[in-house]
Amino acid sequence: MQTKEKEISKTIEILKEFLKEERKTTLNREAKDRKDSKRFTPYQTLISCLLSLRAKDEVTEKISENLFKIAKTPEEILKIEERELKKIIFSSGHYNKKAEAIRHVSKEIIEKYNSKVPQTRDELLSIKHIGPKTANIVLAFSFNKQVIPVDTHVHRIPNRLGWIKTKNPEQTEKELEKILPKEYWSEINGVLVLFGKRICLPISPLCSKCPINRYCKKVGVKTSR
Ligand code: SF4
Repeated sequence: MQTKEKEISKTIEILKEFLKEERKTTLNREAKDRKDSKRFTPYQTLISCLLSLRAKDEVTEKISENLFKIAKTPEEILKIEERELKKIIFSSGHYNKKAEAIRHVSKEIIEKYNSKVPQTRDELLSIKHIGPKTANIVLAFSFNKQVIPVDTHVHRIPNRLGWIKTKNPEQTEKELEKILPKEYWSEINGVLVLFGKRICLPISPLCSKCPINRYCKKVGVKTSR
């Protein structure tokens, strides 16, 4: 293992230890997600992921459950009146956009992919409204592919630490693939999301309480506490 990879591994291990107790909750959720992904079809995982954008986990869970009681396949979803669909998903926020996304994605899956969710990243990304994070979650959870789901925390924190220098989540994913040891690919999202919500906040991070302070270059951090 090279020096940079060793330093990254060490930093992640410190974070895992620091977040040990809180991670138990996350790990329970991840275990539940994996269970759900077996219970859920790839299409349901995809729809649930579209519903989760900017929504809390508990809300997404409830709404997905309600929706899947009525419809589980792209054909069944498209049978729901648009107004009715918006009503069902209303509390997830951004319901107009999400309803449009769900309907569009369902149509494309029926028309282009014979009602089956495609299993490659390129095909998933070719469908409007499916971004890299959603694609990677479907690939990882439904099809057991080795990928790194990059969201706002996984993009921000490695840049602040100085591991990478990227402008968007797509670039971050590519750069992390080069430097992150594979054993961390599936768990990095869970660790950094939790750390980003508790300590390395988007604005004014809590650097004085940070367990990896001495390994951090604080790139772009203008104010901290
Ligand atoms: S030192 Fe500050 S900026 Fe760096 S990882 Fe910790 S909280 Fe984030």
